[in-house]
Amino acid sequence: MLDTASLIDLLAQPQKIVITTHHKPDGDAMGSSLGLYNYLIQQGHHAQVITPTDYPQFLNWMPGNGDVIIYTDNVAIADQLIAEADMIFCLDFNALGRINEMGEKVGESNALKIMIDHHLEPQDFDDYRHWDINACATAQLIYTFIVEVLGHKELVNADVASCLYTGIMTDSASFRLPNTTSAVHRIVADLIDAGAPNARIHELVYNDSTEMRLRFLGHCLANKLQVFNEFNTALITVTADELKEYDVITGDTEGIVNYALSISNVRLAAFMVERKDKVKLSLRSKGDFPANEICKKYFSGGGHRNAAGGVSSDSLQETVEQFKLILPKYKNLLIQ
Ligand code: 5GP
Ligand code: MN
Repeated sequence: MLDTASLIDLLAQPQKIVITTHHKPDGDAMGSSLGLYNYLIQQGHHAQVITPTDYPQFLNWMPGNGDVIIYTDNVAIADQLIAEADMIFCLDFNALGRINEMGEKVGESNALKIMIDHHLEPQDFDDYRHWDINACATAQLIYTFIVEVLGHKELVNADVASCLYTGIMTDSASFRLPNTTSAVHRIVADLIDAGAPNARIHELVYNDSTEMRLRFLGHCLANKLQVFNEFNTALITVTADELKEYDVITGDTEGIVNYALSISNVRLAAFMVERKDKVKLSLRSKGDFPANEICKKYFSGGGHRNAAGGVSSDSLQETVEQFKLILPKYKNLLIQ
């Protein structure tokens, strides 16, 4: 393990740095990556953000977005950057499996690996860790890394601040989740003071729907929502045919599960979507119900207590049946 003083010494000289984040990056993944990127380039480092896959269009306005490389579109260049890097920052994930085939290359690289993350049970692949499961977003940890660990508050400029604001806003469900502490609000205030255009960022991220996306949401709510009141649970499922019918693209399904959770008695909401050869699950819960436990035990996944995900190699129908069989096991926690 590298100590903080050695890390600070290393960062005093220009380094070749790769920044990466999890598969299908969300607002926190991209906000953290580009927030750190916009900080590092001010220090003269050669920094490159590489995402394992594409990400939603409503995130493509962030400063530095034009310099991002998507791994699957640029395998040769990305592999070379990873192999030659002095440092690789691993943000918003803590197991190499979360970056798909990139994980092997990152694991093989001699670069120092720095994990900044807020997920449970980190895998041991890193050389330095800034990790806190109580953080509401990895972007919060990027802020404390820059300001408290590296002592560079003056380098949190408007570009850094805009990216980090986006990460905190999206991962805290717009400052709503229980981990949005007063300390988080103080950081957010600092980000606004540093130039994050907060109202504009809400517009860019949340008011970026196409007509089709809104109609798809309407379809999910009107026709695909199932409520199991005896278990205070709601479920929305989407088939591959429906994805085609509504021209669904990356990001279009994001947040739909939260509508199911907004029913007052519902403590657990699930969203299942039929992808190539697998079903992807998103679970959300209220209070202390452990959505991540279900994902870990039954769906090869994990996540946070109130927001977790996983996959199933069974058919959509079978996955729904399996989910329904799991609910009675959690009845006591669900009907509190
Ligand atoms: P989402 O439902 O938005 O895809 O994911 C919610 C959270 O669950 C993510 O922030 C991540 O922590 C976790 N998550 C989602 N999918 C997986 C998965 O396949 N494996 C693991 N370990 N965590 C996941
Ligand atoms: Mn996150």
